[in-house]
Amino acid sequence: MSTKVAVVTGSNKGIGLAIVKALCQQFQGVVYLTSRDIGRGKETMDTLVSEGLKPMFHQLDINDLSSITAAAKYFKEKYGGVDILVNNAGIAFKGADTTPFAIQAEVTLKTNFFATRDMLTHFLPLIKSGGRVVNVSSFVGSRALNQCSPALQERFRSEDLSEEELAGLMERFVKETQKDEHKQGGWPETAYGVSKTGVTALSMILARRLSKERPGDKILLNACCPGWVRTDMAGTKAPKSPEEGAETPVYLALLPPDATQPHGRFVSDKEVQPW
Ligand code: NDP
Repeated sequence: MSTKVAVVTGSNKGIGLAIVKALCQQFQGVVYLTSRDIGRGKETMDTLVSEGLKPMFHQLDINDLSSITAAAKYFKEKYGGVDILVNNAGIAFKGADTTPFAIQAEVTLKTNFFATRDMLTHFLPLIKSGGRVVNVSSFVGSRALNQCSPALQERFRSEDLSEEELAGLMERFVKETQKDEHKQGGWPETAYGVSKTGVTALSMILARRLSKERPGDKILLNACCPGWVRTDMAGTKAPKSPEEGAETPVYLALLPPDATQPHGRFVSDKEVQPW
């Protein structure tokens, strides 16, 4: 049998690192810790090895298309594809950050939505039969959805929303923030929230596409919220440890081979949530 392989983006620290640790203990295969910065990734690798864990490492900056395509080529050539992909990498401006909202919107959507979409464009064709794809979104994305205009909510929830229309809506949000017209456009005042609305909606679109185009492969693709987790992003007051935050993403990554659901859902605390 060929070697099974799991890849976790943005896993040199925080929730991604906790996902790598849990997969090293629970997944029967090779687990790849990836980071955009090789130094930070290798430093974390040394710590894991000293703890007796045996992940592998590959550089992966999701904002850099050549890094994504190089990694995709590597996994295709070395393993014939990927069994588990966890799209965990993400960014958030701090609440107190004074960077203009339009810049925050552009930068946040670039990584959280557009770069995650690039990852999925290049890695979904590599996902093997029986594979699992987990996109780390956020409950903040669901809250932002509920704060959108009724017209936008209808589109984000629509089963006929296409990937192109969704990308167009995300671009429209960024453009409208630049003219300070996003409120009139029906958007909430949260770039991070809108980026995660996009990640969840994209997950639903791609799951529908997998069911239609590769039904026999039984791949399960979901978005999830890790909860509010103590990391550099969320700070020290959050109630969950990174290990607790990893529980739902790892549960989705390790859904048993005969599972048929959840698929195309938004999952929190291992439960499907309304969208
Ligand atoms: P951290 O800031 O602790 O870690 C984020 C990770 O993503 C880091 O490894 C970072 O790398 C990496 N990253 C950022 N940009 C890129 C990029 N372009 N390419 C590759 N890696 C990148 O955050 P968390 O662990 O808290 O967050 C992980 C995920 O969970 C995110 O998607 C976040 O939105 C989501 N989330 C977190 C919550 C929380 O309460 N913490 C709540 C809900 C969702 P580097 O070290 O180089 O910066």
